[in-house]
Amino acid sequence: MEIIKVLNRELEIIRAQIIETRRDFHQYPEVGWTEFRTAAKVAATLQHLGYEVQKGREVIREEVRMGVPSEAILEASYQKALKSGITEAELEAFKGGFTGVVGTLRLGEGPTVAMRFDMDAIKLLESAKEEHRPTKEGFSSTCHGIMHGCGHDGHTAVGLGVASILMVVKDKLPQGTIKLIFQPSEEGVRGAKSMAASGVLDDVDYVLACHVMANEPIGKIICASNGFLATTKLDVQFKGVPAHAGATPNQGNNALLAACTAVTNLHGISRHSEGASRINVGILEAGSDRNVIPDSAFMKVETRGETSEVNAYMRDYAYRIIKGAADMHSVKVNINCVGEAIGGKSDDALVKTVETVAHEVNRFDEVVLVSDKPGGSEDFSYMMETVQAHGGQAVYFMVGGAPVDTKGVGHHTSGFDFDEEALIKSASVFLGVIVKLLEA
Ligand SMILES: [Zn+2]
Repeated sequence: MEIIKVLNRELEIIRAQIIETRRDFHQYPEVGWTEFRTAAKVAATLQHLGYEVQKGREVIREEVRMGVPSEAILEASYQKALKSGITEAELEAFKGGFTGVVGTLRLGEGPTVAMRFDMDAIKLLESAKEEHRPTKEGFSSTCHGIMHGCGHDGHTAVGLGVASILMVVKDKLPQGTIKLIFQPSEEGVRGAKSMAASGVLDDVDYVLACHVMANEPIGKIICASNGFLATTKLDVQFKGVPAHAGATPNQGNNALLAACTAVTNLHGISRHSEGASRINVGILEAGSDRNVIPDSAFMKVETRGETSEVNAYMRDYAYRIIKGAADMHSVKVNINCVGEAIGGKSDDALVKTVETVAHEVNRFDEVVLVSDKPGGSEDFSYMMETVQAHGGQAVYFMVGGAPVDTKGVGHHTSGFDFDEEALIKSASVFLGVIVKLLEA
């Protein structure tokens, strides 16, 4: 296992650089489709290292993007990236929210191995408390109300660290092609499908992704997490007719009533027998004043299912209820799908490879093969599906990141934090698995 030793040594050399990169991204968080600064930095780094770089529309299919912010928001975010010191030339390819990057390293005839790293942050106000480590150590978000609250800053830093080491050791690697995929807009499951649809995975034999978990202990690896749920995110707008609530209520068409009818029925959907499911109406806003028949209502809905089939059942049922509720109250309704992910399952053979590497790199004290615990959703499933559909293999593994002395602070909370050692551990697995796959 000579090469594993070489990779481990190289990792130690750039350990500080990986952490520094993560902290830079942490200070400049960008939400889905506005990762202009992040994507430009990633592309520039890959270019500098000597990768063949594809970016923007080359790696994102426009009509498959979901939940894209308004033109005004995209433009404001673009201008902000410009002001941060990124040049127009570096940013141009990403304009309009095409914030994906792929770096390719060709090492002759052999298998193609791809890795996915997500880059986006979330709308969340970062904790200013002194005990919050990014605050204490001076690298917290500089952008009010936006925070890397899920660790994707770390994922992007791992991707660039892996990229840098692969270039250093490339003459020692077996033949094949390596692709590093930097994905926008994982939050809300909006970005992966458009990258898969661009064709960047069509020649890929193996695809890997990893999530750092702040609520699993540092030193633990779960070689395959099969627990992610298929999901659909819907924005629903009801449009009725306003009227005087005292004088002529009969002349109004009540959008608020339609929305309320929908909400109670959505939560009452009879469940599917073949797997767990979820439904949630997370936002409902309606009406304009006390004495006006409400002419508008807006809600944000999501469905989830243990399998794509169970989610499709929930989603289709939800569409019928929403349309039926609108009909009952003679209001118009517009249902907009702003995010969707299918279910996904890692391939056993590739999970085994991750397990073998996890032991060989000697950086883990607890190696768990598979977790089926249902939890969030992850649109990496579209990349898995694309690769598996043409006979390739996929794996999604998780690396624990809770500091030894705590149980960790939850993802998507303002105090979210993780032990950066998890990044080094994650990178070591990516590197080890690449070598194994190219050797095979
Ligand atoms: Zn995440």
